Amino acid sequence: MTIALSVGICLWAIVAVLHNAVINRTAANENNEETDTDMTKAQSAASSAVSGASATTRSDEAEGRVSAGESDLVQLRKAISLAEDSKNRGSHPFASTVVAADGTVLASAGNNSLPPTGDPTQHAELRAASAAARQCSPEELAEATLYTSAEPCVMCTGAVYWTGIGRIVYALSERRLLELTGDDPENPTFDLPCREVLSRGQRVIEVVGPVLEDEAAAAHEGFWTRRTN
Ligand SMILES: [Zn+2]
Repeated sequence: MTIALSVGICLWAIVAVLHNAVINRTAANENNEETDTDMTKAQSAASSAVSGASATTRSDEAEGRVSAGESDLVQLRKAISLAEDSKNRGSHPFASTVVAADGTVLASAGNNSLPPTGDPTQHAELRAASAAARQCSPEELAEATLYTSAEPCVMCTGAVYWTGIGRIVYALSERRLLELTGDDPENPTFDLPCREVLSRGQRVIEVVGPVLEDEAAAAHEGFWTRRTN
């Protein structure tokens, strides 16, 4: 009787231990699933943040773009005037400025893409963005606007992206510029809107344009045909 009772107690103890082991294993699996779920949520949130950045620039385009303010028009007309100056110096008719949030002009440049002093990478936007980046903090650049007489090409849009300038306001669209330059070997214009380039990045950059397109086109009319004929 005593032996039978002892064996019974032992069997009960073994069953109890095995039962607890099963419960602990199940709890551990649930915890792992929860961790995996949390990681998936975190990855999803990170992914949404990136796609959200893209969506912002795309929605700007879908909504007909953010409108230009009065100060934007003043700054853009200065850039167009500088593009005329650039043409009068024998360079291509493009110019850009980088302007701080308080209206201070941080940098300005025309094109310098022709020999003997320039090279084909020296577009106005790239030169202005580069000059601003060498003298301003990341915070100042994020608050700054690049004004340009024509929409930045893919190279210059990349320069704005990498320097961290927070805003672009352009006059002439790249499509309209392409109509004016054609396949001129000195300026074989891309057919690639800057918003499309920026939509693939992770940094949100506000884009305004085209604005004052006819005024900006004036500097180009006759310029490219004269050179190709
Ligand atoms: Zn460019």
